[in-house]
Amino acid sequence: MHDTVLKGKSIEELKTVFQNMEEPSYRAKQAFLRINKHLAGTLDEFTEFPKSLRKKLEENHSYPSLQIIHSSPEADGTEKVIFSAGKDHRGKEILIETVWLVSEKRRTLCISSQIGCSLNCSFCATGTIPFGGNLDAWVILDQVYEMIRHKNETITNIVFMGMGEPFYNYENVIKAARILNDDSGLNLSARHITISTAGVLPSIHRFTQERQPFNLALSLNQPFSEKRGEMMDIEKRHPLWDVISALKEYTETSGKRITFEYVCIPEMNMSEQDALEIIKIAKKLPSKVNLIPLNTNLQGWKRPSSDEMLAFQKILTDAGIRAFNRGSAGRNVNGACGMLALNRKNRQ
Ligand code: SAH
Repeated sequence: MHDTVLKGKSIEELKTVFQNMEEPSYRAKQAFLRINKHLAGTLDEFTEFPKSLRKKLEENHSYPSLQIIHSSPEADGTEKVIFSAGKDHRGKEILIETVWLVSEKRRTLCISSQIGCSLNCSFCATGTIPFGGNLDAWVILDQVYEMIRHKNETITNIVFMGMGEPFYNYENVIKAARILNDDSGLNLSARHITISTAGVLPSIHRFTQERQPFNLALSLNQPFSEKRGEMMDIEKRHPLWDVISALKEYTETSGKRITFEYVCIPEMNMSEQDALEIIKIAKKLPSKVNLIPLNTNLQGWKRPSSDEMLAFQKILTDAGIRAFNRGSAGRNVNGACGMLALNRKNRQ
């Protein structure tokens, strides 16, 4: 069924669509532009297509859109949206979350790659809802397109940091990123598209070998393997030092740096020893560290004070590490890191 969806298709796939319909291949480029640059809401907006062709296209293909189920705008410009992507094969509604983030220079969209998440990290609320599988490329892309239409503004950055593990849905994520980057689409610079992983080793290797141009981030969260394993199940499958070696290889092949994300939890991962171990890791490869204060209170953990954040950050920066406090825009609407669990608090 999903290969009849026109959204989320590469130009080559669209060429096949039109070839199969015995239509000229330039239609593929026209369709690609309509879908990915002009963000057509329906096939009727393919105005250069004769009505008869639109009808023929409709007979065997579909052009679905995500529907906004709920949105929670905040005074600072942050907005979390819950989208419906229709029903799954068991008739259950597919719900996903997307967060719009604004800062002085950027308008960033934080998008989801899976329905819920299978990773089950102990500090992250997304792991508390049932996992429902991978999102198709069109659903990944349409979060961006519908959000732009909804806000009537353009975006500057994309982060694959919403629900799910992007590197467990590698092909659809890379396909969507490529289409966002295409100059016949939104033409977003690859340097403004960041993919975050908890450490899926085979996908990191693949990303390196394929020389993907997008930014890569690792959710480090604890520098000692054993303790990391208590917070993140994936550590047992892909141990940190293997992941770090793979990332080092990535930086050498690509000439790029990587970002370590680090959710800060007092008494769990904010000791001086932890900071020193982060320094050890970060010095092995070109990198920077983004510190994120804990946004949930799962396991009864508490959020660090700003003094605790500053003190921890200072140990890193004093050692010459580029370390930033990422703050947590979106907390009031449960839209900050680790809070995406389809909670409709603040319904308006
Ligand atoms: N699965 C991918 C993509 C999700 S990114 C990954 O793990 O990288 C979501 C980010 O939010 C991760 O860096 C994670 O460490 C962070 N995060 C998760 N729960 C959080 C919480 N409760 N408070 C702050 N940050 C959190």
